[in-house]
Amino acid sequence: MENNFKQYVSTILELDYRKTIKEADTTELYHAVSKAVMQMIKKDWDKDAGSKKVSYLSAEFLVGRLVYSNLLNSGLYHTYAEMMGENNLDIGIFEDIEDAALGNGGLGRLAACFLDSGATLGIPLNGYGIRYKYGLFKQYFEDGFQKETPDDWQRFGDPWSVRKEKEKIRIDFKNQSVYAVPYDTPIIGYGGNTVNYLRLWQAEPIEEFDFELFNEQKYDKAVKNRDEAEAISSLLYPNDSTDAGKKLRLKQQYFFAAASVRDMVRRYKEKHGNDFGHFPEEYAIQLNDTHPVVAIPEFLRILMEEEKLSFAKAFRIARETFAYTNHTVMAEALEKWSISLFRAVIPNVYKYVLLLQRALVKELKAFGKVTDEAQTIYNIIDGNLIYMARLAVFASHSTNGVAGLHTEILKKDVLKEWYEIYPERFQNKTNGITQRRWLALSNMELSGFISDKIGNSWILNLDNLKKLEEYKDNKQVIKQYADIKRIKKQQLAEYIKKQENIEIDPSFIFDIQVKRLHEYKRQLLNAFSIMDIYFGIKEGSIKDFTPTLFLFGAKAAPGYFRAKGIIKYINEIAKLIDSDPDVKDLMQVVFVSNYNVSYAQKLVPAADISEQISTAGTEASGTGNMKFMLNGAVTLGTYDGANIEIVEQAGEENNYIFGARVEEIEAIKDTYNPAKIYKSNPRIKRVLDTLTDGTFDDDGTGMFKELYDAILKGASWHEPDHYYLLLDFISYTDARLQANKDYKDSFEFHRKCFLNTANAGMFSSDRTIKEYAKEIWGLQ
Ligand SMILES: *Cc1c(COP(=O)(O)O)cnc(C)c1O
Repeated sequence: MENNFKQYVSTILELDYRKTIKEADTTELYHAVSKAVMQMIKKDWDKDAGSKKVSYLSAEFLVGRLVYSNLLNSGLYHTYAEMMGENNLDIGIFEDIEDAALGNGGLGRLAACFLDSGATLGIPLNGYGIRYKYGLFKQYFEDGFQKETPDDWQRFGDPWSVRKEKEKIRIDFKNQSVYAVPYDTPIIGYGGNTVNYLRLWQAEPIEEFDFELFNEQKYDKAVKNRDEAEAISSLLYPNDSTDAGKKLRLKQQYFFAAASVRDMVRRYKEKHGNDFGHFPEEYAIQLNDTHPVVAIPEFLRILMEEEKLSFAKAFRIARETFAYTNHTVMAEALEKWSISLFRAVIPNVYKYVLLLQRALVKELKAFGKVTDEAQTIYNIIDGNLIYMARLAVFASHSTNGVAGLHTEILKKDVLKEWYEIYPERFQNKTNGITQRRWLALSNMELSGFISDKIGNSWILNLDNLKKLEEYKDNKQVIKQYADIKRIKKQQLAEYIKKQENIEIDPSFIFDIQVKRLHEYKRQLLNAFSIMDIYFGIKEGSIKDFTPTLFLFGAKAAPGYFRAKGIIKYINEIAKLIDSDPDVKDLMQVVFVSNYNVSYAQKLVPAADISEQISTAGTEASGTGNMKFMLNGAVTLGTYDGANIEIVEQAGEENNYIFGARVEEIEAIKDTYNPAKIYKSNPRIKRVLDTLTDGTFDDDGTGMFKELYDAILKGASWHEPDHYYLLLDFISYTDARLQANKDYKDSFEFHRKCFLNTANAGMFSSDRTIKEYAKEIWGLQ
């Protein structure tokens, strides 16, 4: 098998480029290696599982770079490394190959981790989504401001996907029809036994584009037609602040939901004919957030309009088949569509939304909710809006949150009226991450160390990490463990030098916050606390401070003005500290550019401190927190999302938990007065004033004043400081300084880190997927 692989690589290079391995350039070698892996797994691919299959519908799949994880999972990594060695080539050369960034953040990365776990566990879990031409934008900084460029990720080709021309599907909108053409990417389970697929749909015009069209008018029309078709799968999250943007987004959702449902129905019919009664035994469909929820009325449409089933029967089948995952408590993220837009795009589907609304009213009556008033909070169609989360809860058999606290908030608050009538439908499924990518691949040094101590069974059963606890008081072992962290910091320093042209010092504490930029994640609180420490060191109130690197990585949505202001503010702080000889040897702030999966794989293993500081009750779960824990960073965090479960597993004494809890915030909410805190606390005032007193320059954009006002004055749409930065300000810096102090005792500090690694077993996405399989999908 191994020799076959090397042989394939050589043959492909010879046939495609007439080159040897030594002569090939990076892209050519990348193609040859990828195609060779594809060739080797071919026999295991495209087999019907023979049992119930799960389709995971998601608008995002943040798979990152596939070449190394596929080599690892298919068992070919070692052979690959050997082949490169024999030819004097660097095994890391594919780091130049772009990530497939078909997602924004956690939700998309979760989908990718789930696929890895499904295939590894031998569960037929397949992904369905959109093959965006451009992934999430690339970010760079100009004078500290975020700038964006398009992410043309297929520029060097896409050797990991296969176009399935024959399986394309026609999708009809009101005034437009397009093809959804599937591109399949193999999902290779670790050990290489199961190969599932990720099927991404690309939008193309129905009519073939003919450059020979002599008639000018016809030509223009054909061009327009093609462009309008391709627009549907062009961009991840088109700007939806305009009507045209909203319309495109609804089209995208229908496009991939309808194609995916049609794909399953077609496969089903090939096996079972027209008897749809067994559909729920053949397929489970998991809806990743509300983006694919339109799949439900579309499914009803197909069964009723084309297959002539009654509503009652079609609805029963739909309910047994679909399940919905909620990812957020933010009201603005629970999607609503205006009826007029919906009808302008997919009038045929609207009819089935109406039928669902009618069925809902009937069912509500059975629950004793007979008045309009009692029904309003449930209505799928209310006023001129369609509520997609309500539709999902009503027309599926399961609704799950993604961490214990989050699920409780769904039951008590966000979806409480639904929990009242359907308590049995609500479940918790705490998120997870795949240890294949987030430890075995991204931290080979730590992986080797762990396997040396307890064997390598953790790759398939992460709970086995617990066996490490036996060494927790062994000074020599903890020292070895700490030495690995130091190596990863050194490697990160080299990478950052290359990427950002910034020097960082691996002897510093590495305190890292990387995640999407959002006010609720409170990067601004982190920045404030850095300024507080800066002033404290300058005035001498903070002594014996262990030198610390405060590292950030985050993209701000292009239209999110405040988030961009926060980036600029942090970059200004970085500049200030860098140019101040009093503090320069004690602190450094770095904002790395273009944070993505591959960058995360380098940052996470190098962290001492993991910043997870969202306002309690706002971060549904977080998965970044789990990656850091697994790689042995202590969590500096709030009682929010999965942080709670992390400290439950690893011990509160081995982490740094601070700040108001959900109940505390709930209790003071109505009387919360940030302006009063500002006025009465000189430390807080001093820091906030840097936004307006000329300490920093936002180049006349007004960004800093806007941040200042958001906290002290609020805005038409929110109260002042609605994420409670000032409430947690002091306890945060206290916790941070405590960690800084504790770091001086290297053994004690690294023992905490070690215990985090040892107790990270529960956060494997293998555990999560097993729970979904058993408790939602009804698999054995
Ligand atoms: C894991 C991951 C996330 C999610 O991070 P959170 O801290 O949970 O928000 C976002 N982006 C990338 C690139 C990731 O790898």
